[in-house]
Amino acid sequence: MKKHNFGAGPSILPQEVFEQSAQACLEIDNSGLSILEISHRSKTFDAILEETFSLIKELLKVPDDYSVLLLQGGANMQFNMIPYNILNDNETADFVETDIWSTKAEEETRLYGKTNIIASSKAQDFTFIPKDFTVDKEAAYLHLTSNNTIYGTEFLEDKQYDIPVVCDMSSDIFSRPVDISKYHLIYAGAQKNLGCAGITLVIIKNEWLGRATRPKSKMWDYSVYAKNNSLYNTPPVFTIYTCLLTLRWLKKLGGLAEMEKRNIAKAALLYKEIDRNSLFKGHAVTEDRSRMNIVFTAKDEKTTADFLEFVKPYNIDGIKGYRTVGGFRASCYNALPIESVQVLVDAMQAFEKR
Ligand SMILES: *Cc1c(COP(=O)(O)O)cnc(C)c1O
Repeated sequence: MKKHNFGAGPSILPQEVFEQSAQACLEIDNSGLSILEISHRSKTFDAILEETFSLIKELLKVPDDYSVLLLQGGANMQFNMIPYNILNDNETADFVETDIWSTKAEEETRLYGKTNIIASSKAQDFTFIPKDFTVDKEAAYLHLTSNNTIYGTEFLEDKQYDIPVVCDMSSDIFSRPVDISKYHLIYAGAQKNLGCAGITLVIIKNEWLGRATRPKSKMWDYSVYAKNNSLYNTPPVFTIYTCLLTLRWLKKLGGLAEMEKRNIAKAALLYKEIDRNSLFKGHAVTEDRSRMNIVFTAKDEKTTADFLEFVKPYNIDGIKGYRTVGGFRASCYNALPIESVQVLVDAMQAFEKR
């Protein structure tokens, strides 16, 4: 039986994406071939790639002066590829540290230039998003992590800063409409809201292609991917197909405004129960709570293991918190239906009554 999958990533995708991609493994588009065996230079894949790019641009309303790239290596590779492509040796990148992902991005950036953590919530266990920070006007860019997958905080506004902004949107991309024009570069691993693992989406303002002057390896150079329509070498064809199916599903449901409405409703349902229930408490401060990763703990730590055991008959999977936070994390990505959230709420209420 299909479980209620609250896993943080790789994570739940729409059921029809599972079904259609399974079918495509047997045969894609009456071609007599499996998606797993077709050439990445075939007409079939050309059409898949073209529709994928065009749906990304349509759903995110990507302005014309941006390039959409599909790369490999995950968001972690972007921690390195971004400064390699953008930051010159003598330049500085500013960071707002809101999770271990931003820390990792900062560490990789130091390999290529200077870094400055201009604000951090680390000393307060990443319970909030710092807001009163001033960017260094001389810095090449400001790096943000829009959704903090482990600690459950989220930037919900696309703000204008005095310098270009780079944003890791791995765990909230496509969960709400985004004003791309406020960013010079956004990036996101596919495996949370976009498709299965194996692809990283990068959207970069064209004027930034070729920005850093160091000699570059071709496989590591955004310009090479931009020139070759992300087909410089063999891309993960199957992963891209799962992204396309997910994008079609998103469009069919009404796009990102509709998705945001659903995500707000799911998050409200669960946070309401966390605040009401005498046994649990939320990790993040109320105004910075993430809609995607809802992190909460048991007021009495000893009951954490009991609750994890208690939810098993409810067919709930993936709510164990990250090891540094403990407690629970219910990831409510796009494809998680509100019915699954209701099942978790029911389990929390039954646990309290017990
Ligand atoms: C999951 C995640 C990552 C890591 O992504 P990989 O694709 O595994 O490298 C980075 N940043 C954020 C915000 C994430 O949620």
